[in-house]
Amino acid sequence: MAEAVRCFIGLGSNLDNPTDQVMQALKELQDLPGISLMASSSLYRSDPMGPQDQPDYINAVAMLDTQLTPLALLDQLQTLEHAHQRIRLQHWGPRTLDLDLLLYGNQLITCERLTVPHPGLTERNFVLWPLAEIAPDLKFPDGSLIQTYLDQHPLGTLQRLS
Ligand code: ATP
Ligand code: CA
Ligand code: CA
Repeated sequence: MAEAVRCFIGLGSNLDNPTDQVMQALKELQDLPGISLMASSSLYRSDPMGPQDQPDYINAVAMLDTQLTPLALLDQLQTLEHAHQRIRLQHWGPRTLDLDLLLYGNQLITCERLTVPHPGLTERNFVLWPLAEIAPDLKFPDGSLIQTYLDQHPLGTLQRLS
């Protein structure tokens, strides 16, 4: 069997009881074949990105080890999004569940369906802070440290929920 690769997934929701959506998605990730959930962050509340006429988001980050290839993992994530009745109406618009593949080991991936590391990873405090909570010593594929990006993208209005 292929060796497991350490991955990080960003979760987000702002519709239909976002807290439940994210908690449920963490459970579902754990139950997927070929995936071991190693850790998950606290939940965070964030202001919406893009269109402002939408509810706040609940975000979290999960650490998992997987034997799935990057595209097979993306397939699984998109199946989960569909199971949560995600409908895409508007770019960065409201959604029941968003699952972004943030990191897949140290791999750099660019194809039509997948860009890894996720392009928003080092730009978004609602990804960086939960990620640092579960992987404070994380180094990105280019050798940079997560702590550097935390300094550049402070907590601001992002709220860690107990
Ligand atoms: P953003 O990617 O800026 O956070 P978004 O999450 O709202 O925006 P989506 O509508 O969820 O964007 O995704 C659009 C497409 O992005 C997906 O169909 C998927 O193929 C592609 N994609 C590219 N890279 C990734 C990645 N690392 N994780 C998840 N999807 C990705
Ligand atoms: Ca996203
Ligand atoms: Ca997405």
